[in-house]
Amino acid sequence: MVSKLTGSKRATQFTESVIREMTRLSQRHGAVNLSQGFPDFPAPAAIKEAARAAIAADLNQYAVTWGAQRLREAIAREFTRRHGLRVDADAQVTVCCGSTEAMMAAMMAIVDPGDEVVVFEPFYENYGPDAILSGATPRFVALHAPAGPAASGPWWFDPGELAASFTDRTRAIIINTPNNPTGKVFSRAELETIAALCRKWDAIAIADEIYEHIVYDGRRHVPIATIDGMADRTITINGLSKTYSLTGWRVGWTIAPPALTAAIRKVHDFLTVGAPAPLQEAGAVALGLPDAYYAELAAGYRRRRDLLLEILGHHRFSCHVPEGAYYVMTDIAGFHAADDVEFARYLVQEIGVAAVPGSSFYRTSGEGRTSLRFCFCKRDETLREADRRLARHSGRDVCLCSVPDLAERDT
Ligand code: GLN
Repeated sequence: MVSKLTGSKRATQFTESVIREMTRLSQRHGAVNLSQGFPDFPAPAAIKEAARAAIAADLNQYAVTWGAQRLREAIAREFTRRHGLRVDADAQVTVCCGSTEAMMAAMMAIVDPGDEVVVFEPFYENYGPDAILSGATPRFVALHAPAGPAASGPWWFDPGELAASFTDRTRAIIINTPNNPTGKVFSRAELETIAALCRKWDAIAIADEIYEHIVYDGRRHVPIATIDGMADRTITINGLSKTYSLTGWRVGWTIAPPALTAAIRKVHDFLTVGAPAPLQEAGAVALGLPDAYYAELAAGYRRRRDLLLEILGHHRFSCHVPEGAYYVMTDIAGFHAADDVEFARYLVQEIGVAAVPGSSFYRTSGEGRTSLRFCFCKRDETLREADRRLARHSGRDVCLCSVPDLAERDT
C-alpha cells in the first residue's frame, strides 16, 4: 500500500526555491551572497523609528484584516499622486504579508483549476508554484535576450507569440515590470499590446511592480493599470520590501477593482489574517518620504549596477545591462561549465560568491542552462569583496573599477 505520510500531489509538483537555497548555501560556505535579492545596507532611520514607536504605543494587536487604515490610505494616495489614477483605500487596497502573499492571494482569488495564466519566461521563480497551488495552467511566452555578446539592448517579446498564447481559457497574465530576473522595463507601447489582448480576451493583468522605483537611465515605470480600459481589470502588486530595503518585514499589498479586491480579501484573511500591525504603521510613514528619497534610491542602485557590471565584465562574464530592478543576468556559455547549476555550485563552494542558476527562472527545459543571475543590492565593500574572490576564478587581478565608492549612511 502506498504510504499516505507524504506531501500532497500538489506539493510534489514543485521544488524548494533555488533562490532561498542559494542563500543557505552561501551561509554554509561563508560566501559573498549575490543570490537572493535583499539589501545588506541599513533601512531608512525614520521608518525604523516609526516601527519602534508603534510597538511602544502598543499597536501590537491585529490590524484590520485587509490593512491598517493609515497604510491603505497612504498606498492609495501615493498611487494617485504618482500615476494620476484614483484609488479607493476602502474598496481597492489589501495589505498582505509581502508581495509574495499578495501574488498568491490574487491567484487563488481569481483562478479556477484549468484556467490559463500567461507568464513571460524567464520569470521570477515564485510564479511557477503560485500557478500550481492555484490550479492555473501556465502558458509561457518567451522574453528574448538581446542578441550578440554583452548585448545591451532590451529583452523583447514577439507580439505574435504573445497573441497566440491567449485563448478563451486565459484568465490572467502576469507582468513583472521592472522585471526580475532580466531587468527589463516594459515600455508603454509593449504594455498597450498586452492591454489590448487583455481587453480582447476579457483577461486580468496581474502586475508585480515591486521594483517600481528602481529604474535607470531616464526610463519611467508605467503601471499597466493606467493604460486605457485597464484600471478595472488590473491587480497591481507592490510592497515595502525593495523600495525601503525592508525585505524581512513582509508588508506588501494589492490594488484592484472592488469586486476583485473582495475576493482577494477573503483569501488573504484565511491565509494570514494580516500583516504585522506595528510595521504597517511604519509603512504609512515610509510612503510619506519625500520624492528626493526615491531619486536617491534609484541613483544609488544605478551606481551599484555599474560597479557590478564592471566587476563581472572584468572577470569575463558576458552581461545583459538591466534597465531596472537590481539583478544582472549573465551569459556563462564561455566558461564551458557543464551547466548553470554546476557552475553556481562551484562559485559558491570554491570561489566564495553565490549567484542564482539561470534555469530556476525557466520552465522550458534547457533554457537558462547558460546563465547566472547576480544581484547588486549590496554595499560597495560587499561587491568589492566579490571582485577579489572572482579574481581567483578568472585569473585576473581585481577590477580597478572606475565607479567611485558610495559613502554608506544610515539615513
Ligand atoms: N525577489 C528576491 C529575489 O528574486 C527574493 C524574494 C524572496 O526570496 N522572497 O532574489
